[in-house]
Amino acid sequence: MVLYDVIIIGSGPAGTFSAYPLKTKKVLMLDVGYSSSETSELQGNLYDLRAKVPDLFDSLIGKDFESLHNLFNDKISYKLKAPYMAYILKNWQQLSPVKSTGYETMMSFAKGGLANGWGAGVYQFNDQDLQNFPITEAELLPFYDELTAHIGISGENDDLEPSFGYSRNLLPPLKRSLFFENFLASYKKNKTTKALNNIKIGTPRLAILSQDYNGRSSYKYDHLDFFRPLNPAVYNPLFTLRDLEKESFLTYLSGYLVVTYKEMKDHVEITAKKLADNTLHIFKSKKLILAAGALNTAKLILKANEDTESRLPLLDNPMVCIPIVDFRKIGSHFDRYESPIAQLNLIYEGDSSIGPIQASLYGSSGPLRTDISADFPLSLSGNMAMTKYLAPAAGLAMIFYPGKFSTKNYLKLNKNDELEINYEDFTLCEKNEAILMKAFRTMGYFCLKALNQYPKSGNSLHHAGTIPMKSRPQKYQTDADGKLFGSNHVYVTDGACFSDLPAKNLTFTIMANALRIATKIGNI
Ligand SMILES: Cc1cc2nc3c(=O)[nH]c(=O)nc-3n(C[C@H](O)[C@H](O)[C@H](O)COP(=O)(O)OP(=O)(O)OC[C@H]3O[C@@H](n4cnc5c(N)ncnc54)[C@H](O)[C@@H]3O)c2cc1C
Repeated sequence: MVLYDVIIIGSGPAGTFSAYPLKTKKVLMLDVGYSSSETSELQGNLYDLRAKVPDLFDSLIGKDFESLHNLFNDKISYKLKAPYMAYILKNWQQLSPVKSTGYETMMSFAKGGLANGWGAGVYQFNDQDLQNFPITEAELLPFYDELTAHIGISGENDDLEPSFGYSRNLLPPLKRSLFFENFLASYKKNKTTKALNNIKIGTPRLAILSQDYNGRSSYKYDHLDFFRPLNPAVYNPLFTLRDLEKESFLTYLSGYLVVTYKEMKDHVEITAKKLADNTLHIFKSKKLILAAGALNTAKLILKANEDTESRLPLLDNPMVCIPIVDFRKIGSHFDRYESPIAQLNLIYEGDSSIGPIQASLYGSSGPLRTDISADFPLSLSGNMAMTKYLAPAAGLAMIFYPGKFSTKNYLKLNKNDELEINYEDFTLCEKNEAILMKAFRTMGYFCLKALNQYPKSGNSLHHAGTIPMKSRPQKYQTDADGKLFGSNHVYVTDGACFSDLPAKNLTFTIMANALRIATKIGNI
């Protein structure tokens, strides 16, 4: 049997950047690794396609009305419903069943993980964000820089620089819609008023190409973001992984569900189920990197310890969505460059008891009319008409609050090998919402508390903190280099090892931290 130097479990952002610096080692990546199907009929701009192609129903809505999922079920992200996007969440309930109270769980077993559907918002953590971590911003900076050069990140150093950090080598920002050009202009006019005290608004940092870069083509504003996966302009770890697979150091094996591992004196034995025939297979390596996502990494560690009693912590960013309306634009059209990607970011730092909160601001051209229309209180036809005229005049501020460690937020493994998740304790603050809504009104936009939406915990898809990094780790924690307490060969590189969860999208830091830890493993 081959003895690998390193086995990595998972091919998402964490797994990919765990493999990236290990080119001098013999590496195996084990993954379930579902892939998307061919989408050749969806080439070009959606508006042109609808004029040219007689019937796109199967591609856009789906034979089983997949895109109308949110009309009849609990809402999921608009990006995860369309027929060609179904591979992202495929079979997760069968592969890793979860019983949850207060937490809407979603997992991905796709090659590239949840990042097949991500919004590509990439934000550096600063020392304030990292205050409960055993590492500093200075330790992560070289890895953020390396990722920025590799991936190509659009944005600019503007009012948000104190929070997002100065970044070298940013590509120019993406084009903003007219709605948000006006919104930004209004912010600049009003930013010294009392209502905007402690509020900063600026350009998002996005792993989306505003110009051709590293062999990938720029973003085309083709309105297909919610229907067609693998847009080359929107970074997907799969792109890097495909390049790594061409090099001889990495073997990538899909179709394997890792069920447990056993640590021996000088190596680790990993047991995986081959999904094609349900047979069990053993793989051996000197080091094991767990990068299966914060939930499955925790599950594997509990399973390896045969522990169905312990409760591990769980972090998530609570969310509030505030619709904002510009009455002057009611009945207007979407402009050609309107895209469903984040148009602006907002940081509010006025509440020291909670810490900074962050919002991503979106337009409403992306969702189907049916996605939004059910939220209005009129008849079906009234709601559809209202959506038609109101959508071009509306935007959404999606606010993220920091995650919170609490004994009421935990996961455990039960005797049936299922995860049990309990999530009851989270902080949303009406006072902060009121402050933001007052600022929006001062800027000339309408918002109303009754229209605000409160997605359930789990919907941020920012699962983290299950096996936190500590300077003096204890059981089910890692040291500052991601090494699991009590272990000689097992490391954690995904969001599981986050010691905290600030109100910033976490994946850029997952990638930078994985790169940092794996670089050290590569030097052992
Ligand atoms: C709609 C949406 C929007 C998002 N927007 C953003 C955003 O703008 N910015 C941001 O920072 N984040 C965003 N995210 C979150 C981001 O995608 C995740 O934080 C990120 O993908 C986590 O990376 P990961 O590698 O830790 O885990 P995952 O992406 O979950 O990957 C897990 C990998 O492990 C494999 N795996 C799991 N268990 C096993 C097992 N037992 N055996 C074998 N393989 C296994 C899976 O197949 C998969 O390859 C978004 C997510 C979604 C869905």
